[in-house]
Formats: sequence, structure tokens, C-alpha cells
Amino acid sequence: MAKLYFHYAAMDAGKTTMLLQAAYNYRERGMNAMLFIAGHYKKGERGYISSRIGLEAEAEMFRDGDDLFARVAEHHARETVHAVFVDEAQFLEDEQVWQLGRVADRLGIPVLCYGLRTDFQGKLFSGSKALLAIADELREVRTVCRCGRKATMVVRLGPDGKVAKQGAQVAIGKEAYVSLCRRHWEEEMGRTEPDDFLGFATR
Ligand SMILES: [Zn+2]
Repeated sequence: MAKLYFHYAAMDAGKTTMLLQAAYNYRERGMNAMLFIAGHYKKGERGYISSRIGLEAEAEMFRDGDDLFARVAEHHARETVHAVFVDEAQFLEDEQVWQLGRVADRLGIPVLCYGLRTDFQGKLFSGSKALLAIADELREVRTVCRCGRKATMVVRLGPDGKVAKQGAQVAIGKEAYVSLCRRHWEEEMGRTEPDDFLGFATR
């Protein structure tokens, strides 16, 4: 039985490195892995999945309205696909997550999705919401807050280095993201009294 997997984490947890390593393991055994990455903020047809430690692989782009079941089925008819990997899976549409479920159920191909659980405001992304709802297996990729606790949240820092409290879900600019535990996320967002506040400005 092929499964639909969702590996989720806050920012910078090494998800992409895990994806590329897993895809490499398939290819090393002579198996065919099909790779997708979100093309919402990129041009062209071919994209690249690259990790911070320098690994890189070519990937197909997915955008809103694409039928991912049809794309995998067509590729699979030409040459056997042994696994499908999706990076930036938080950007999948609800319907596309169902299509990937069908890839597992009807084509018998495992689908491994990697992405963020929540945005900088602590809200689920569309793809994450659907994956958390229907994936067969959920796997948390752990990363740590500056305090050493598990980081499950992310704050967005604007070009001025200040924490953004509102704005579009995705910013295309010089923003940076920092992973935090829930307690420190609430403090940085100004939602709770900063008990042991470290603060970005004081670092
Ligand atoms: Zn913390």
C-alpha cells in the first residue's frame, strides 16, 4: 500500500535536505523519483529544489489549478515512477492534496510532501491544512527555539529587522524567518507579557 506522507516543520528545520537525501536514495537504487516544487513565485517550467547545505536537484513546478494526478499518471505511463516528492507542500491547493492521495491510492506510488505547518501569524497554509487532514502519515521535522525548546512557530522579520504582525501570507522581498517555540512566538508577537524576553532588538 502506497501512502501519502506529510513531513512538516517550522522554518529551517532541514526539510529540504531530508527530501533531497530521500530522493537521492531512490535514484541511487535505479528507481525513478519525480520531484515537484511550488512555482507560484517563480517563472518557467523547470525549477530547482536546493537546500542550505548545498544539495540541489531539478524539479517540476506546480501552480494553482494544475492537475497533479494527471501529471504523475502521464509521466508514469511513459516511464515507471517509484516515488513522488513535493517540496513547499504548504502551497498545494486542497484539491491538489486529494490528487496526490489518488496517486498513492490508484497508481500505487508513495507521495512524500515536505512543508511548513503554519505561517508567521500561526495560521495553517492551505496545503498543510489538507495534508494534516488526509495524509496517511504525519512526521514532524524538529528544530529548536533559541531557548532550546522545540520550535513549532515562525516569525517574519521585515527588512528593518522588526517582527511583522500582519501582512500577506507570503512576502517576496528581503524578509527573514526565525523559528521559535510557542511561548517565545507569543512574546515576540506582542501577545503575552515578555517574562524572559530576549527580543531580536537586544541580541
Ligand atoms: Zn523558546
